[in-house]
Amino acid sequence: MDGLSALRRIAFLLERSLAPTYRVKAFRTAALAIATLPADELATRIREHSLTELPGVGPKTAAVVEEAAGGVVPAYLADLEASAGPLDPAGADLRTRLRGDLHSHSDWSDGGSPIEEMAITGLELGHDYLALTDHSPRLTVAHGLTAKRLEKQLTLVAAMNRQLGDGFRLLSGIECDINEDGTLDQTDELLGRVDIVVGSVHSKLRADSATMTKRMLAGIENPYIDVLGHCTGRLVTGGRGTRPPSSFDAKKVFAACAERGVAVEINSRPERLDPPRALLKQAVAAGCLFSIDTDAHAPGQLDFQTYGAARAVECGVPEDRIVNTWPLETLLAWTTRDR
Ligand SMILES: [Zn+2]
Ligand SMILES: [Zn+2]
Repeated sequence: MDGLSALRRIAFLLERSLAPTYRVKAFRTAALAIATLPADELATRIREHSLTELPGVGPKTAAVVEEAAGGVVPAYLADLEASAGPLDPAGADLRTRLRGDLHSHSDWSDGGSPIEEMAITGLELGHDYLALTDHSPRLTVAHGLTAKRLEKQLTLVAAMNRQLGDGFRLLSGIECDINEDGTLDQTDELLGRVDIVVGSVHSKLRADSATMTKRMLAGIENPYIDVLGHCTGRLVTGGRGTRPPSSFDAKKVFAACAERGVAVEINSRPERLDPPRALLKQAVAAGCLFSIDTDAHAPGQLDFQTYGAARAVECGVPEDRIVNTWPLETLLAWTTRDR
């Protein structure tokens, strides 16, 4: 393992265990500094112990690179690996049959890492596909992408796929706000061009049940939506505090999802775990499709999937109704079903 791989692996393991951002950042920044260094300069600096002269490389990160260059697993990494393993063992078996992830963010909206790093991590996790679903324009707090920026991102994703080659596909996508009036927050033209549309409610979460139901049903009726994101909007733990689930007529909402072939997301983020168990079981009974997604905002969070998988197992979600167990061609035939 070289120094760059060791730094990236450490950052990944820290991110998936929800380490503070500043700790992760030290390793991500050092990785970037090492990656852009000419090979001969890197070798010289390792030999002369002068890596710390580089901006973004400190004593701890320099030690990791030097240990890796010496042919040993860096001590800091060895410690982290000792407690690695699946985040939720109850989801580990199902996780092996998930071929991809349909909900992730890059630093184009409110994620912490460039698109390339997210894509490469998805590939390293063994996925066949990963959908990049940055936020839509109205979510300004999360730097939602305007139509113009999304256009630009689509060009970049296409170029990246040419580099990534066969065997892994970075799917284009959007996490599109379901507006208060039930419309989707992006032009139909662009919604028709991306591979995956996750539709989510991000505002007025405390609206009364009738209002929320009407809003969600209108979103689900939209021909471009593929996945209904974190349907209750609840937060059960974490830095943003807690938030109760939104109230809506679950019977009507899940019946509409089943009827329209819209997948109900099983959001794997530990602070969301959305939908709650009772609602998830109700969606199973209603005949819905499901998508087990990470909603990752950093590469290491792409490993959250075992949390969602464990929930799916616990609530009896049939595997053939989990869209991300499907091969890519089947998945894409589904997302383009009624556009
Ligand atoms: Zn969201
Ligand atoms: Zn999201």
